[in-house]
Amino acid sequence: MDPASITPADLRQLLAFVAEAISRKEAELNALDAAIGDGDHGITMRVGFTAVNAKISGLPDAAGIDAIFRESGIAFMGATGGAIGVLLGKMLMAAGAALKGRPEIGPAEFRILLDAMESTLVSTGKARPGDKTMLDAVHAANDAVKAENPSGEELVPMMELAGRSALRAAQDTAQMLPHAGRASRLGERALGHPDPGAVSFSVFLTAMAEWAQQTSRHGA
Ligand SMILES: [Mg+2]
Repeated sequence: MDPASITPADLRQLLAFVAEAISRKEAELNALDAAIGDGDHGITMRVGFTAVNAKISGLPDAAGIDAIFRESGIAFMGATGGAIGVLLGKMLMAAGAALKGRPEIGPAEFRILLDAMESTLVSTGKARPGDKTMLDAVHAANDAVKAENPSGEELVPMMELAGRSALRAAQDTAQMLPHAGRASRLGERALGHPDPGAVSFSVFLTAMAEWAQQTSRHGA
């Protein structure tokens, strides 16, 4: 990739890279979910992103950024069940809608993407920051990227910042009491365990950043 932007062809490669990263984390995500849920989160994420990868590899060459995200969301939602399927599916679709007409993802588009994902998660999931859900990771990444100096900004460091912020926030959910989602019935028994959805969203963003680092280094 050009370090300044992600083209539709880049985005296909990026999502394939994310799908592999998620697959590698399957057992770890299942174990996190087993501590506070039913233990299938890693399976769900792997199945969802495998469907995303299959869907986008069949899209016509002319498919733009918006169509790639929209179709990814539809594929994720169609292949998975439960809350995460609906939430992440809608978030990917919202990213597509928000990026309609944008030929590439640069810093401005990356901000739009995270903001659209957070807005959709808030309106669909009804959680708030601090409730020990995926939103904690999404909110932290979006906030960090919004706070970046708007002048002199670069895409790859911005993606790294988003990934780091999401990862830290996901780890911090271990110390939170669950107020929303299925873990909320566990109360204090959930303390010490991070939210699996927050962790998997941080895997999503850190894999995006890792792909961008590697590819911009080799391609520049
Ligand atoms: Mg589960």
